[in-house]
Amino acid sequence: TAVTIMGIDFVNETKEKFLTEYVYPKLTHNQKCFIVTANPEIVMKTRESKAFKKLVKQANYVVPDGVGIVYASKFKKQLIKERIPGYDLMRDLLAKADQESYSCYFLGAKEHVNEKVVEQIKQKYPNITIAGHHHGYISINDNSIADKIASSHPDLIFVALGSPRQEEWITTHMNKFNKGLFMGVGGSFDVIAG
Ligand code: UDP
Repeated sequence: TAVTIMGIDFVNETKEKFLTEYVYPKLTHNQKCFIVTANPEIVMKTRESKAFKKLVKQANYVVPDGVGIVYASKFKKQLIKERIPGYDLMRDLLAKADQESYSCYFLGAKEHVNEKVVEQIKQKYPNITIAGHHHGYISINDNSIADKIASSHPDLIFVALGSPRQEEWITTHMNKFNKGLFMGVGGSFDVIAG
């Protein structure tokens, strides 16, 4: 079930149901998955750029992050059930990764922020395997970094490059991976690093 707003199909489930019925099974079965948490800014960007819209449409799931999108859905026949903030989704995924001892890769933000994020994750989620981490000031087309990340076989790849760079990176390199849940997390690393 999805609600289409400005040509984008949004997930219309509660966060809990979205995770347990859609996302966790993909992790269990090592199926690749690309999640976009779309705030109104991202939706506006898809209106301004056809190329960006094409990238967002490659996502398995576009999640409504922001009340603006829920409001927009009021003008549609179906009302979006729940706003799913990207930051909350990331927290839940980290908790799940800790539970299941999944491995995670952290790509993005400035070097010192990126390092701080890994430190925080190690403390808060001791059962997560850190597949690796790298700051986000890289060229989108850098294949050697992407190959290295792919060869670490992470279960989850958090990409904090901001939009549209994180969606560009994911759609450019996802095909190098044999599994993985890919999620663009915007400024979340800065929040975690504090
Ligand atoms: N960032 C990055 N590489 C870049 C540009 C940005 O890693 O080339 C990081 C930046 O350090 C920050 C995150 O991406 O941690 C989000 O950046 P910004 O706030 O500019 O993007 P937005 O949240 O507005 O999408």
